[in-house]
Amino acid sequence: MEIGYIRTPLGRSKIFRFGSGPREILIISGIHGNEHNSIATTRRLVVYLSKTHKNMFEGRITIIPVANPNAFKYKQRTSIIDGHDLNRVFPGDAERSATYRHAAAIWEIAQSVDYIVDLHTCGYCQPYILTLYKEYPEVKKFVEDLPPENMVESIGLQGQLFVEALKIGIKAAIIELPQDGLKLNDEIISSMSRKLLQSLINIEFLIGEKTKYNHKYFGTLVRHHADSSGIFTPKAKLGGYVGKGELLGRIGKILIKAKSGGKIISIIPKMFIIAGELIASIAPPVYPKEEHK
Ligand SMILES: [Zn+2]
Repeated sequence: MEIGYIRTPLGRSKIFRFGSGPREILIISGIHGNEHNSIATTRRLVVYLSKTHKNMFEGRITIIPVANPNAFKYKQRTSIIDGHDLNRVFPGDAERSATYRHAAAIWEIAQSVDYIVDLHTCGYCQPYILTLYKEYPEVKKFVEDLPPENMVESIGLQGQLFVEALKIGIKAAIIELPQDGLKLNDEIISSMSRKLLQSLINIEFLIGEKTKYNHKYFGTLVRHHADSSGIFTPKAKLGGYVGKGELLGRIGKILIKAKSGGKIISIIPKMFIIAGELIASIAPPVYPKEEHK
Protein backbone atom coordinates (compact mmCIF):
# COMPACT_ATOMS: atom_id res chain seq x y z
CA MET A 1 0.00 0.00 0.00
CA GLU A 2 1.21 3.49 -0.88
CA ILE A 3 -0.12 6.65 0.73
CA GLY A 4 -0.33 10.05 -0.90
CA TYR A 5 -2.17 13.31 -0.35
CA ILE A 6 -4.08 15.98 -2.18
CA ARG A 7 -3.38 19.35 -0.55
CA THR A 8 -5.29 22.52 -1.41
CA PRO A 9 -6.87 25.35 0.64
CA LEU A 10 -9.82 22.93 1.10
CA GLY A 11 -7.58 20.74 3.25
CA ARG A 12 -5.79 17.42 2.89
CA SER A 13 -7.32 14.31 1.30
CA LYS A 14 -5.49 11.06 1.97
CA ILE A 15 -5.02 8.72 -1.01
CA PHE A 16 -4.51 4.95 -0.63
CA ARG A 17 -2.99 3.04 -3.56
CA PHE A 18 -2.94 -0.74 -3.94
CA GLY A 19 -1.79 -3.19 -6.59
CA SER A 20 -0.16 -2.80 -9.98
CA GLY A 21 -1.03 -3.40 -13.60
CA PRO A 22 -2.24 -1.51 -16.66
CA ARG A 23 -5.83 -0.90 -15.42
CA GLU A 24 -6.85 1.47 -12.64
CA ILE A 25 -10.03 2.05 -10.63
CA LEU A 26 -10.72 5.07 -8.42
CA ILE A 27 -13.05 4.55 -5.46
CA ILE A 28 -13.97 7.85 -3.82
CA SER A 29 -16.32 9.04 -1.07
CA GLY A 30 -16.89 12.09 1.09
CA ILE A 31 -17.31 14.48 -1.84
CA HIS A 32 -20.16 15.59 0.44
CA GLY A 33 -18.77 15.87 3.97
CA ASN A 34 -21.85 14.71 5.89
CA GLU A 35 -22.34 11.42 4.00
CA HIS A 36 -20.70 9.32 6.66
CA ASN A 37 -21.88 5.79 5.78
CA SER A 38 -20.16 6.12 2.41
CA ILE A 39 -16.92 7.36 4.02
CA ALA A 40 -17.01 4.54 6.59
CA THR A 41 -17.59 2.01 3.79
CA THR A 42 -14.51 3.04 1.78
CA ARG A 43 -12.43 3.21 4.98
CA ARG A 44 -13.48 -0.39 5.71
CA LEU A 45 -12.52 -1.35 2.17
CA VAL A 46 -9.06 0.18 2.75
CA VAL A 47 -8.68 -2.07 5.83
CA TYR A 48 -9.63 -5.19 3.82
CA LEU A 49 -7.25 -4.29 0.98
CA SER A 50 -4.37 -3.50 3.34
CA LYS A 51 -4.69 -7.07 4.66
CA THR A 52 -4.73 -8.54 1.14
CA HIS A 53 -1.49 -10.10 -0.12
CA LYS A 54 0.12 -8.15 -2.97
CA ASN A 55 0.03 -11.20 -5.26
CA MET A 56 -3.78 -11.06 -5.19
CA PHE A 57 -3.96 -7.72 -7.05
CA GLU A 58 -4.46 -7.69 -10.82
CA GLY A 59 -4.85 -3.93 -11.26
CA ARG A 60 -4.33 -0.61 -9.52
CA ILE A 61 -6.89 0.44 -6.92
CA THR A 62 -6.87 4.07 -5.74
CA ILE A 63 -9.09 5.04 -2.82
CA ILE A 64 -9.88 8.53 -1.53
CA PRO A 65 -12.21 8.15 1.50
CA VAL A 66 -12.58 11.85 2.38
CA ALA A 67 -12.67 13.82 -0.86
CA ASN A 68 -13.88 17.03 0.81
CA PRO A 69 -11.84 17.43 4.03
CA ASN A 70 -13.25 20.84 4.99
CA ALA A 71 -16.87 19.74 4.60
CA PHE A 72 -16.06 16.55 6.57
CA LYS A 73 -14.42 18.54 9.38
CA TYR A 74 -17.56 20.65 9.81
CA LYS A 75 -19.98 17.75 9.09
CA GLN A 76 -21.55 19.69 6.23
CA ARG A 77 -22.45 18.74 2.65
CA THR A 78 -20.23 21.51 1.24
CA SER A 79 -17.15 23.35 2.52
CA ILE A 80 -17.58 26.38 4.75
CA ILE A 81 -14.71 28.10 2.89
CA ASP A 82 -16.51 28.94 -0.35
CA GLY A 83 -19.80 27.01 -0.10
CA HIS A 84 -19.45 25.42 -3.54
CA ASP A 85 -20.77 21.87 -4.04
CA LEU A 86 -17.70 19.76 -4.90
CA ASN A 87 -19.91 17.46 -7.00
CA ARG A 88 -20.99 20.31 -9.29
CA VAL A 89 -17.61 21.78 -10.19
CA PHE A 90 -15.72 18.97 -11.95
CA PRO A 91 -13.35 19.00 -13.80
CA GLY A 92 -12.42 21.86 -11.45
CA ASP A 93 -10.17 24.87 -12.00
CA ALA A 94 -6.75 25.40 -10.36
CA GLU A 95 -7.17 29.20 -10.75
CA ARG A 96 -10.47 29.53 -8.85
CA SER A 97 -11.64 29.09 -5.21
CA ALA A 98 -10.77 26.21 -2.84
CA THR A 99 -13.50 23.76 -3.96
CA TYR A 100 -12.60 24.24 -7.65
CA ARG A 101 -8.90 23.73 -6.85
CA HIS A 102 -9.62 20.52 -4.92
CA ALA A 103 -11.81 19.26 -7.78
CA ALA A 104 -8.98 19.96 -10.23
CA ALA A 105 -6.55 17.99 -8.04
CA ILE A 106 -8.98 15.03 -7.84
CA TRP A 107 -9.60 15.27 -11.59
CA GLU A 108 -5.85 15.05 -12.22
CA ILE A 109 -6.07 11.50 -10.76
CA ALA A 110 -9.54 10.64 -12.04
CA GLN A 111 -9.00 11.51 -15.70
CA SER A 112 -6.44 8.76 -16.24
CA VAL A 113 -8.30 5.83 -14.61
CA ASP A 114 -10.50 3.26 -16.35
CA TYR A 115 -13.29 3.05 -13.76
CA ILE A 116 -14.72 5.31 -11.04
CA VAL A 117 -17.03 4.42 -8.16
CA ASP A 118 -18.20 7.50 -6.24
CA LEU A 119 -20.00 6.71 -2.98
CA HIS A 120 -22.71 9.03 -1.64
CA THR A 121 -25.70 8.80 0.65
CA CYS A 122 -29.37 9.47 -0.08
CA GLY A 123 -31.06 9.85 3.32
CA TYR A 124 -34.15 7.71 4.03
CA CYS A 125 -33.62 5.60 0.94
CA GLN A 126 -32.87 2.18 -0.44
CA PRO A 127 -29.32 1.83 -1.79
CA TYR A 128 -29.00 2.30 -5.54
CA ILE A 129 -26.50 2.76 -8.37
CA LEU A 130 -26.78 6.02 -10.28
CA THR A 131 -25.30 6.24 -13.75
CA LEU A 132 -26.18 7.13 -17.35
CA TYR A 133 -26.67 3.63 -18.72
CA LYS A 134 -29.09 4.87 -21.41
CA GLU A 135 -26.79 7.63 -22.68
CA TYR A 136 -23.60 5.56 -22.30
CA PRO A 137 -24.63 1.88 -22.76
CA GLU A 138 -20.94 0.94 -22.71
CA VAL A 139 -20.98 1.53 -18.92
CA LYS A 140 -23.44 -1.35 -18.39
CA LYS A 141 -20.93 -4.18 -18.27
CA PHE A 142 -19.06 -2.37 -15.47
CA VAL A 143 -22.04 -1.28 -13.36
CA GLU A 144 -23.51 -4.77 -13.50
CA ASP A 145 -20.51 -5.86 -11.45
CA LEU A 146 -21.38 -3.33 -8.72
CA PRO A 147 -23.80 -3.49 -5.79
CA PRO A 148 -26.64 -2.80 -4.99
CA GLU A 149 -29.41 -4.28 -7.17
CA ASN A 150 -31.27 -1.03 -7.95
CA MET A 151 -29.90 0.64 -11.12
CA VAL A 152 -31.19 4.17 -11.63
CA GLU A 153 -30.67 6.43 -14.66
CA SER A 154 -29.27 9.83 -13.64
CA ILE A 155 -30.51 13.14 -15.02
CA GLY A 156 -26.83 13.81 -15.74
CA LEU A 157 -26.27 17.19 -14.06
CA GLN A 158 -22.98 18.57 -15.32
CA GLY A 159 -20.06 19.11 -12.97
CA GLN A 160 -20.55 15.76 -11.23
CA LEU A 161 -17.43 13.60 -11.14
CA PHE A 162 -19.12 10.53 -12.69
CA VAL A 163 -20.88 12.57 -15.41
CA GLU A 164 -17.69 14.38 -16.47
CA ALA A 165 -15.82 11.05 -16.38
CA LEU A 166 -18.42 9.33 -18.59
CA LYS A 167 -18.03 12.17 -21.12
CA ILE A 168 -14.33 11.30 -21.60
CA GLY A 169 -14.90 7.53 -21.86
CA ILE A 170 -14.33 6.44 -18.25
CA LYS A 171 -16.80 3.87 -16.89
CA ALA A 172 -18.22 5.67 -13.86
CA ALA A 173 -21.14 5.50 -11.44
CA ILE A 174 -22.37 6.71 -8.08
CA ILE A 175 -23.46 4.32 -5.34
CA GLU A 176 -26.03 5.88 -2.99
CA LEU A 177 -26.37 4.45 0.53
CA PRO A 178 -28.98 5.17 3.23
CA GLN A 179 -28.04 7.77 5.86
CA ASP A 180 -30.09 8.73 8.92
CA GLY A 181 -28.68 12.05 10.14
CA LEU A 182 -25.01 11.46 10.99
CA LYS A 183 -25.56 7.96 12.41
CA LEU A 184 -23.24 5.22 11.21
CA ASN A 185 -25.08 2.08 10.16
CA ASP A 186 -22.84 -0.98 10.75
CA GLU A 187 -25.03 -3.28 8.70
CA ILE A 188 -24.74 -1.06 5.60
CA ILE A 189 -21.02 -0.37 6.07
CA SER A 190 -20.19 -4.03 6.54
CA SER A 191 -22.36 -5.35 3.71
CA MET A 192 -21.40 -2.66 1.17
CA SER A 193 -17.66 -2.86 1.85
CA ARG A 194 -17.75 -6.65 1.39
CA LYS A 195 -19.79 -6.32 -1.80
CA LEU A 196 -17.34 -3.73 -3.17
CA LEU A 197 -14.50 -6.14 -2.45
CA GLN A 198 -16.47 -8.73 -4.46
CA SER A 199 -16.89 -6.16 -7.26
CA LEU A 200 -13.10 -5.77 -7.42
CA ILE A 201 -12.93 -9.54 -8.00
CA ASN A 202 -15.71 -9.38 -10.61
CA ILE A 203 -13.92 -6.70 -12.63
CA GLU A 204 -10.60 -8.56 -12.24
CA PHE A 205 -8.71 -6.17 -9.99
CA LEU A 206 -8.43 -8.91 -7.36
CA ILE A 207 -8.07 -12.67 -7.75
CA GLY A 208 -11.05 -14.62 -6.49
CA GLU A 209 -14.32 -16.26 -7.37
CA LYS A 210 -16.67 -14.04 -9.39
CA THR A 211 -20.34 -13.72 -8.55
CA LYS A 212 -23.26 -12.09 -10.33
CA TYR A 213 -25.55 -9.40 -8.99
CA ASN A 214 -29.15 -9.40 -10.14
CA HIS A 215 -29.95 -5.80 -11.07
CA LYS A 216 -33.28 -4.15 -11.65
CA TYR A 217 -33.24 -1.24 -14.08
CA PHE A 218 -35.14 1.99 -13.43
CA GLY A 219 -35.55 5.31 -15.25
CA THR A 220 -34.83 8.72 -13.71
CA LEU A 221 -36.24 9.32 -10.22
CA VAL A 222 -39.60 11.08 -9.93
CA ARG A 223 -39.16 13.36 -6.93
CA HIS A 224 -42.03 14.48 -4.72
CA HIS A 225 -41.53 17.77 -2.89
CA ALA A 226 -43.86 19.11 -0.20
CA ASP A 227 -46.35 21.74 -1.43
CA SER A 228 -46.99 22.91 2.14
CA SER A 229 -45.32 22.87 5.55
CA GLY A 230 -46.54 20.65 8.39
CA ILE A 231 -46.19 17.12 9.70
CA PHE A 232 -45.68 14.49 7.01
CA THR A 233 -47.11 11.06 7.81
CA PRO A 234 -45.96 8.33 5.39
CA LYS A 235 -48.47 5.73 4.21
CA ALA A 236 -46.40 3.96 1.56
CA LYS A 237 -43.46 1.73 2.42
CA LEU A 238 -39.80 2.29 1.51
CA GLY A 239 -38.81 -0.28 -1.12
CA GLY A 240 -42.42 -1.08 -1.97
CA TYR A 241 -44.12 -0.50 -5.32
CA VAL A 242 -46.94 2.01 -5.94
CA GLY A 243 -49.19 2.74 -8.89
CA LYS A 244 -49.61 6.27 -10.25
CA GLY A 245 -52.09 8.20 -8.08
CA GLU A 246 -51.68 5.91 -5.08
CA LEU A 247 -51.26 7.43 -1.64
CA LEU A 248 -47.68 8.12 -0.47
CA GLY A 249 -48.67 9.89 2.73
CA ARG A 250 -50.25 13.08 4.00
CA ILE A 251 -49.21 16.49 5.23
CA GLY A 252 -51.83 17.31 7.84
CA LYS A 253 -55.03 16.53 5.91
CA ILE A 254 -53.54 17.02 2.45
CA LEU A 255 -53.06 13.75 0.57
CA ILE A 256 -49.76 13.24 -1.27
CA LYS A 257 -50.24 10.97 -4.27
CA ALA A 258 -47.66 9.24 -6.45
CA LYS A 259 -46.96 11.17 -9.67
CA SER A 260 -45.62 7.97 -11.24
CA GLY A 261 -45.83 4.25 -10.69
CA GLY A 262 -42.71 2.47 -9.53
CA LYS A 263 -40.48 1.53 -6.63
CA ILE A 264 -40.31 3.83 -3.63
CA ILE A 265 -36.56 4.49 -3.50
CA SER A 266 -36.86 7.12 -0.74
CA ILE A 267 -39.55 8.31 1.65
CA ILE A 268 -39.07 10.32 4.83
CA PRO A 269 -40.42 9.07 8.19
CA LYS A 270 -43.04 10.98 10.17
CA MET A 271 -41.50 14.41 10.73
CA PHE A 272 -41.96 18.16 10.41
CA ILE A 273 -41.33 19.37 6.89
CA ILE A 274 -41.08 22.77 5.27
CA ALA A 275 -42.68 23.48 1.88
CA GLY A 276 -40.29 22.52 -0.90
CA GLU A 277 -38.53 19.73 1.00
CA LEU A 278 -38.13 16.31 -0.61
CA ILE A 279 -40.69 13.81 0.70
CA ALA A 280 -40.24 10.80 -1.55
CA SER A 281 -38.61 9.55 -4.77
CA ILE A 282 -40.12 6.94 -7.04
CA ALA A 283 -38.06 4.92 -9.50
CA PRO A 284 -40.13 3.91 -12.55
CA PRO A 285 -39.16 0.43 -13.73
CA VAL A 286 -37.62 -0.01 -17.17
CA TYR A 287 -38.59 -3.16 -18.96
CA PRO A 288 -36.05 -5.04 -21.11
CA LYS A 289 -37.74 -3.95 -24.36
CA GLU A 290 -37.39 -0.29 -23.45
CA GLU A 291 -33.75 -0.72 -22.39
CA HIS A 292 -32.68 -1.53 -25.93
CA LYS A 293 -34.31 1.50 -27.56
ZN1 LIG B 1 -23.55 13.19 -2.01
